[in-house]
Amino acid sequence: MLNEFTYCRRLFYLEWVQGEFAESADTLEGRFKHRRVDRERGDLPDHDDLPPEIVQARSVLISSEKYRLIARIDLLEIEPERVVPVDYKRGSMPDLPEGAWEPDRVQLCAQALILQDHGYRCDHGIIYYAGSKKRTMVPIEDELIERTLALRDELIETALGGSIPEPLKDSPKCPRCSLVGICLPDETNLLFEKDMKGGENRRLIPARQDALPVYIQEQGVSVGKKGDLLTIRRKGKILKEVRLMDISQLCVFGNIQISTQALRELNTRNIPVCYFSYGGWFYGYNTGMTHKNIELRIRQFRVAANQEQSLDLARIFVNTKIRNCRTFYRRNHPSPDKKTVDELYRLSTRARHVKSSDILLGIEGAAAKVYFSKFAELVKAEEYKKDVSFIFKTRNRRPPRDPINALLSYAYSLLNKDLMVTLLAVGFDPYLGFYHRPRYGRPALALDLMEEFRPIIADSVVLTAINNNEITRENFIFRAGSVALDGEGRKKFLATYERRMDTLVTHPVLGYSISYRRVLELQARLLGRYLNGEIKTYPAFLVR
Ligand code: SF4
Repeated sequence: MLNEFTYCRRLFYLEWVQGEFAESADTLEGRFKHRRVDRERGDLPDHDDLPPEIVQARSVLISSEKYRLIARIDLLEIEPERVVPVDYKRGSMPDLPEGAWEPDRVQLCAQALILQDHGYRCDHGIIYYAGSKKRTMVPIEDELIERTLALRDELIETALGGSIPEPLKDSPKCPRCSLVGICLPDETNLLFEKDMKGGENRRLIPARQDALPVYIQEQGVSVGKKGDLLTIRRKGKILKEVRLMDISQLCVFGNIQISTQALRELNTRNIPVCYFSYGGWFYGYNTGMTHKNIELRIRQFRVAANQEQSLDLARIFVNTKIRNCRTFYRRNHPSPDKKTVDELYRLSTRARHVKSSDILLGIEGAAAKVYFSKFAELVKAEEYKKDVSFIFKTRNRRPPRDPINALLSYAYSLLNKDLMVTLLAVGFDPYLGFYHRPRYGRPALALDLMEEFRPIIADSVVLTAINNNEITRENFIFRAGSVALDGEGRKKFLATYERRMDTLVTHPVLGYSISYRRVLELQARLLGRYLNGEIKTYPAFLVR
């Protein structure tokens, strides 16, 4: 970790104090190149009993109380007179007078100091850069020792300090950093400085995610694991195989069996499993270990207990939701009426200045009434307008009593699931919110964050599915006054939903293009940055 600390103080803090980890092409390649030296082999003899010929020991764990250092040495070359630590690095040898990057030299020096403390003669080390297949010799000299010990002291102080170091500014280190999507260096700097007018913001994180959700709704199938594949079988016959590395979450509907081996692998890889009833009600999830970022949860609980701070956030969530509803209505109505637009504007403005969460609740309810009273006017598909059983009058649920309400409920359920999974991945407790108060079984924080996305993701998917004739009369089941989608309807609706999640959108504050799926994660991380005190306000996702 001295290496990471020397590279970037914040990287060290994120990885070692907050327990963040993200796999990147570089870390995967590094692990692959390291696989041989990571296997423990050979012994380290006593310093006064070194063998007459050169021998090697691999993956040697050694520590020093005197120096307060511990290291795993990739390879030790044991010579008759001395020992030489050899460190393997994935990249190429830099064109520097020292022949090695500073973090690598510091790491090697720490290993040499530990060896010296155990009585070995160790006056130099070797760094092997696999990228250029070159070894470089690093002498353990006073200047390097002084630097290494100073960095060690600073590291201990930073780890115990309890506050995350600031991100680097415009650093060429960031684009190669595996934690860039978690750290958000440019975004945090930009929002901290409130310099939102300035030129283009660098987008250091990928616009889209490579891994995608897998939905299984075929009843009676079983999910297993075969090597690096997830298999879906019926009566032993394989129906489909999916590479585990391509899965972001596994969503199962109804009676689907999952083997222990598959569950364990999914847990190990931090791929959540989301359980839905056959009809699409999201009722649970299963994940690996809880996220290690306890600092974030402590701050979440602290702010949730503070009425004023909670109300500040609640105002932002509700104000943004109403404004996004207003924009959605204006964009999708053939001739939006001024009264509705003005009323939504008035309510959103009131939400921004309200003094109590009860009044805020009332404003949100009033805005929802105005918005949904006009929702049916956004529908173009004829069959949803002619047939009385299809006509949407107002929002109703549990159970939904018309097709549009059935679609809305289903869309909110999917969005809720995605936010739950995102919040868990970021390190939050999804059950403690700032606007939605705690109640048994209610994912209050997921519901908080969902507010700004309801119209622009969920309602938008519903309208697309209807107006593009993707979901038609045949896809609904009418039973005892309630309406639900049939299996085929759910399948088609999931495809529409996933398409929306994959759509690129320009972030209103950061100015770059990013998919809605990534936006959810970005907003959750920005909320974390706000709770950590790194940015002054939560920058809600307000569409223009
Ligand atoms: S992205 Fe940049 S600032 Fe953030 S941890 Fe990595 S190197 Fe440090």
